Amino acid sequence: MILKNITFQVLLAAIVGIAAAATFGDQSWLATPSPAGYQFIVFLKTLFLSALRMLIAPMIFFSLIGGIIGIGNVVRLRRLGGVTVTYYLGTTSIAILLALIAVFFIHPWTAFPTAPELAQSHAPARMINPGDDSILRVLTQLAGLAFTNPFSALVNLNILGIVTNAFLIGIAIVLALPESSPVYKLVDDINRVIYRVLGWIIRLMPIGIFAILFDFTLKLSLGEGQTESVLKQLLQFGGLVVALTLLHGLVILPLIGFLTTGKSPITLLSQIARPMLVAFSTSSSSATLPVTMKTATEEMQVNPSVASFVLPLGATMNMDGTALFEAIAAVFLAYLFGIDLSTTAIFTVFLMAMVSSIGAPGMPSASMAGMQMVLLAVGIPLEAIAILLVVERPLDTIRTAVNVEGDLVGSLVVDHFTRSKD
Ligand code: ASP
Repeated sequence: MILKNITFQVLLAAIVGIAAAATFGDQSWLATPSPAGYQFIVFLKTLFLSALRMLIAPMIFFSLIGGIIGIGNVVRLRRLGGVTVTYYLGTTSIAILLALIAVFFIHPWTAFPTAPELAQSHAPARMINPGDDSILRVLTQLAGLAFTNPFSALVNLNILGIVTNAFLIGIAIVLALPESSPVYKLVDDINRVIYRVLGWIIRLMPIGIFAILFDFTLKLSLGEGQTESVLKQLLQFGGLVVALTLLHGLVILPLIGFLTTGKSPITLLSQIARPMLVAFSTSSSSATLPVTMKTATEEMQVNPSVASFVLPLGATMNMDGTALFEAIAAVFLAYLFGIDLSTTAIFTVFLMAMVSSIGAPGMPSASMAGMQMVLLAVGIPLEAIAILLVVERPLDTIRTAVNVEGDLVGSLVVDHFTRSKD
């Protein structure tokens, strides 16, 4: 039973990968010609990372178009659609700000001894040149990247171009096409297909993690005691994510619920405990949706018509826990790889964490595909994702619970405003 559990498999693969490289690995393998066994591990690593990378462009593009259409329809059809969208964006921004502020005060991390060189040799082109001081020059660069034709943006993995195109196309679809247009269904169907493929790739994760970590440990050539130091940093990172996610889930969201609707935080938390537990154990907002809906309408007495538009949309678009995790992770990896984050880069992390949390589907580990987008935008090598994958599964449980809580509090807030306007 436990052997079938993907979290267990991932952890085991991570430990075996690191231990095997530390025990049997030999630096001379890195020189060509390398032994066939090592070449095979590199092959497995490339297979997994390329498969994950393959999905970034289509996934972000279609899932954002789907999200904009969903939001557009809510705004068009319902009186208080604006409240829903303001709530989604507002609470996600609070989560990211919390992450960024905390991470700059508490950052016990130092770069790995060999990480800066690794970062330099693997770094993707930065979206923004860190040396640019003039705001107008930065804006000119950004405008050039944003307004690119959609095909070239998709082909070249120009994230800003993909996001801009998705936004414009999504808004134009809502404004130009009637609700009966087959385009709405088409976008929905394409998203379902992409999510299915993503599900297959996530199943490959244990093999990918083993290979990535084996290679990573070998390349980092950690000496005595350094492996422990990497593990220590990871634990600190995990601890910070858990603490901030709990702060958001146990204090901030209940407080927002209390300030807007007057509902006591204790009552709220006891009413939503069940869906949060389901989210915690499935790591999937979408799989939890039936329980979320039932709790909102039966326990919290939210109007069913409000619940049926706030919750399904929220399950894929409103992910406070995910956004918070991605922001901390980007800063953590930047420290680890010795990459300076300028003010513009931090602003980029903010925006990208927002976009990628909107774009991530409500499935286990789904945000790992979008996470790459945040890394690309600030010039962190994609290989760095390997480090996150080690601790990602256990952290997914708690961030999914907070994602679902955000949707439930949202339904309460929107319901309150709808009723008071009646
Ligand atoms: N597992 C999360 C959810 O379903 C998404 C993620 O952050 O990976 O809400």
